[in-house]
Order: sequence, then structure tokens, then C-alpha cells
Amino acid sequence: MNWNRIAQQIAASTGEPFALERDSSAGGGCINSAHRLYGSGRSYFVKLNSDDLLDMFIAEAEGLQEMAAAHAIRVPVPVCYGTDSGQAYLVIENIEFGGRDGVAALGEQLAALHRCTKDRFGWHRNNTIGATPQINDWNDSWLEFWRAQRLGYQLELAGRRGIGSAVLRQGEQLMDAMDMLFADYQPEASLLHGDLWSGNYAISADGEPVIFDPAVYYGDREADIAMTELFGGFGRSFYATYNNAWPLDVGYKVRKHFYNLYHVLNHFNLFGGGYGSQAQGMLERILGELR
Ligand code: ADP
Repeated sequence: MNWNRIAQQIAASTGEPFALERDSSAGGGCINSAHRLYGSGRSYFVKLNSDDLLDMFIAEAEGLQEMAAAHAIRVPVPVCYGTDSGQAYLVIENIEFGGRDGVAALGEQLAALHRCTKDRFGWHRNNTIGATPQINDWNDSWLEFWRAQRLGYQLELAGRRGIGSAVLRQGEQLMDAMDMLFADYQPEASLLHGDLWSGNYAISADGEPVIFDPAVYYGDREADIAMTELFGGFGRSFYATYNNAWPLDVGYKVRKHFYNLYHVLNHFNLFGGGYGSQAQGMLERILGELR
């Protein structure tokens, strides 16, 4: 990667001179490797991947932009993207993390993000969840959207990756029966982060919550809240302030497993291993609730 050329792109995009003084590796996240660039009293966070994945970065930049425009929660401002030296890059604002006690504010701010609604479900473009394609074709029906573009899509991939036939059969049963989960509940099409596990939020050094690495679309806000619970939970004060700002429906307690099945199937499709049996356990639990 030619960092001086990236620095020129940053200068062109921001309209301010950017004289690169230092670059450092920031290690890697789940999917990409990362660098930080310093100069002219500013710093930027750069994600890198192979150049055929540029579209993934464009979708990420547009997702950050969509959330930034909601003025609800701080997100890193996207700066520019492109390809250089055979790699795709995405440059975003570098934020210094390390603050504490921000989850109560995050709960309230997430409710504000979810208050940004549309009259149909989906988004103007596809993106990725991890490295898996996430299809966002607009749909007036949340149930149709989820059946085809979330649960059905991941089940089909899992079938190709060799998940057991019992899981596929139970998945089909759930696709047939899932309307029952929504008998008394009509979700709104809220602006969602889409991949809100605990690795995708942080508290800035000055105490502001920040969310990043999104898989944005408009859908049921319960899907975002469910994912916060999948790998450990965000802390009691987060749920208290969220519920205070916009109470969750009682049926969330059952539907959260239904929503998290999407992510567990996606983990099976990305990483294999024990996620297949975790998906099976979840399916049994959800189908048990519907009997
Ligand atoms: P990946 O897309 O590879 O999963 P992430 O976006 O999750 O990568 O970023 C990996 C890590 O880098 C995060 O856990 C966070 O600590 C740090 N990070 C991400 N975005 C920024 C940013 N804008 N400024 C500073 N650090 C960041």
C-alpha cells in the first residue's frame, strides 16, 4: 500500500492538506486489517482487504453515512475509499477509545437511531454481514423480507456448507410457522446498525458512545437489541435507558432467539464448527415455543 497516495486522497476528499507523518498497524478486526495514519494534527483509521472487496467498503461507508445523518449516535465519519497496489481501502475518522460509563447514553441514543423509520423494509443497496452478502431488496412485508433475505438466505448457505439435514428441516418448519411470532406485533422499519455485538461499539476517550462496522438496513429494532445479547450483553443500564426511551414489546423475549438465529447461522457459514449445533439448539427452542 502506498500511504502517500492514500494521504493525497484524504487531502482531496477533506479539502484540507494532509502531510503524512506516520503510519502504524492497528492489527485486524474480524475481517479486515487496519492501519492508522497521522499527520497535520489529524489521524485516520484505514481498513484494508483484497481489491475485489471494494464494494464491501463502499457499503460500509454508505452505512456509516446513513447513521451519521440520523444524528443519533456518534459514528466514525467516512472519508474516502478506493483501490491501490492491489488492495481495497476504506478511510474513516480515527477515534480514540478508552472512555468508561457510556452504555447508559448508548441505550438512549440507539432508541433515537431506531426512531428513524421508513415505510418499507430493506435498504437502497446490499451490504455484508461479516464477509457474507446481506441482501436488502425493499419489501413492504417484514415477514417476507426476513423469510427470504435473512433466515432463508443463511439456511441455504448453511445447506451448501454441509449443516445437518435436521437443521435444514427444522429451519423449513420455522419458515412455515414464523408468522405466529408476529400475531400481536407489527414491527416498524427502523434504521438498524445491523451487526451490533459488543465488538462493534466503544466509548470514546471523552466518554461518548460510538458504533462502527455496521451492516445497515431498515428493519425491526428488536433485531439490533437481540444481537446485543448474543455474545454477553451490553450491561443493565443500556437496556434500562433503551426501554425508558422506547419500551420493547413483551414478545421480544421469544423473538430475540429467532433474530439471533440469523447471526448464529452466519457464524456457521463464516467459521463452521460448533455454531451448527448452537443453531440447532436455538431452532429447537423456538419451535418449542411455537408448539
Ligand atoms: P473489521 O471490519 O475487520 O471487523 P472493525 O471495524 O470491527 O474491523 O475494527 C476492528 C477494531 O479496530 C475495533 O474493535 C476497534 O477497536 C478499532 N476501530 C474500528 N474503527 C475505528 C475507528 N474509526 N477509530 C479507531 N479505532 C477503530
